[in-house]
Amino acid sequence: GDRGVYNFAAGPATLPESVLLKAQSELYNYRGSGMSIMEMSHRGKEFDFVIKKAESDLRRLLSISDDFYVLFLQGGATTQFAAVPLNLCKIDEPADYIVTGSWSDKAFKESQKFCKPNVVWSGKSEKYTKIPSFDVIKQNPDAKYLHFCGNETIHGVEFKDYPVPKNKTSILVADMSSNFCSKPVDVSKFGLIYAGAQKNVGPSGVTIVIVRRDLVSDSQPITPVMLDYKIQADNASLYNTPPCYAIYICGLVFEDLLDQGGIKAVEERNAKKAGILYDAIDGSAGFYICPVEKSVRSHMNVPFTLARSELEKTFIEEAAKERMVQLKGHRSVGGVRASIYNAMPLAGVENLVAFMKDFQARHP
Ligand code: PMP
Repeated sequence: GDRGVYNFAAGPATLPESVLLKAQSELYNYRGSGMSIMEMSHRGKEFDFVIKKAESDLRRLLSISDDFYVLFLQGGATTQFAAVPLNLCKIDEPADYIVTGSWSDKAFKESQKFCKPNVVWSGKSEKYTKIPSFDVIKQNPDAKYLHFCGNETIHGVEFKDYPVPKNKTSILVADMSSNFCSKPVDVSKFGLIYAGAQKNVGPSGVTIVIVRRDLVSDSQPITPVMLDYKIQADNASLYNTPPCYAIYICGLVFEDLLDQGGIKAVEERNAKKAGILYDAIDGSAGFYICPVEKSVRSHMNVPFTLARSELEKTFIEEAAKERMVQLKGHRSVGGVRASIYNAMPLAGVENLVAFMKDFQARHP
């Protein structure tokens, strides 16, 4: 990119150049108001325009119908681990969790405080390299919802299609933090989708919740006001002061994604980027290894190791010298992780692949 680095961070992550430049041009004096977005009332006309446009652009981008609320909340995706059971079930009611990595495991553990969750499938014994075929998931017919993580940011496993909750009243809930807006999703198949913004769509500080309207009226009495979807929806995400600047940036990203041809075009670019990176790993005669089963490899986070693990540190250091930064794997799993969200250009991935080939040639 023009800033001289390719940033492979997992989140907060690289944002589109055009968005940053637009934000820069509007930072000091937003559209002649004499104020920045950070300095103005969240109830004034400028911010009203910003949040409404962000919502309507997101609705266009993902074809979200009026049956759903779109909320801009705080507390990160981690707060949704609690908000989901607090809003969707009673404290003694069961809910099903598919555990495909660290994040869905965290969601399950947090939900234990607020409902009676069951792990209906876990990939832990296979080091979170797989996603089950949906017929082996032992769903509880009484579960209030079925929860999964659409893309495990640390382990690099991604759902390519979605399970159907078995119980008629049961609803599908997904944490899409790390693949939100990376490909089309049929929102109508879900009861609730949530996503921290700081991977694909903006800065940290805002979490997007898309929730079916008919599901939000019956939260548990202990639900903190900030976590109550009905209250947030009735107040158009302005019950209290929202993360105004973060919402503004998300709005610029949604606008940019629409300008780029919408979500289908985004998906095609992401598939191409992921394809050349996985091909480089698989074509390295075992020098680089991606442990994830091929059919469920993430198009967003590509974790890999070097067969000679003692070379990993040098690999990451040398890549950084060549201005490819933040390639270190998550501290819980080690290795290398290249996060290639929407805003990572194809040239960044091509650069990385060229470096990988060169590095291998220099370490025969
Ligand atoms: N879910 C997923 C899939 C994530 O990647 C993350 C953050 N890396 C979280 C949840 C937690 O998000 P936050 O830090 O916004 O609470």
